[in-house]
Amino acid sequence: MAKFFRAAVLGPPGSGKGTICKRIAHSFGLQYLSSGHFLREGIAADTEAGVLAKSYIERGMLVPDQVMTRLMLPKLEQLRNHSWLLDGFPRTLAQAQALNNLYQMDLVINLNIPYETLKERLSDRWIHPASGRVYNMGFNLPQVQGKDDVTGEPLIQHDDDKPEALMARLRHYKEVAKPVIDLYK
Ligand code: AMP
Repeated sequence: MAKFFRAAVLGPPGSGKGTICKRIAHSFGLQYLSSGHFLREGIAADTEAGVLAKSYIERGMLVPDQVMTRLMLPKLEQLRNHSWLLDGFPRTLAQAQALNNLYQMDLVINLNIPYETLKERLSDRWIHPASGRVYNMGFNLPQVQGKDDVTGEPLIQHDDDKPEALMARLRHYKEVAKPVIDLYK
């Protein structure tokens, strides 16, 4: 039986996880799965998981483990004959244990980024909600201020990237990530 490669990237919000994951997945021909992307897709489509997730994401909180495993594990099941790279899942010990029960991970990368860098990056991040295109007011500006380059539609700031949600989000990340990192060590 062919052996498929199972990998995940852990990292706080603003660590560049999404960008790095997409590059790795592209370079090595891995299927790329982002839990944040699936949640935003669910919110846009008003799915059950999306409706549930919305209130947590807006408050800068993690979506409950059961919602996450029910969202992610079936997607992995569909890709059981592919090599994959996970972005943003697992985020908690319960999620990591649920994943470990089904798959043996080959590689888990943990991104370690200073707090000040994360704060700067996140408070500068604006997105085009319909496409998910991300801009950074520090180093990746849109051509016209406040407008998406492709559609010209207005850019918004995620509620969970706004300064008031940030501190709570990063503090919470650290507490929750520690046992996950310890598990994979
Ligand atoms: P991300 O795009 O990975 O930064 O995810 C955006 C938001 O979705 C996070 O701040 C969480 O509220 C939620 N989220 C994404 N993945 C997970 C996960 N594995 N467990 C719980 N919440 C998640």
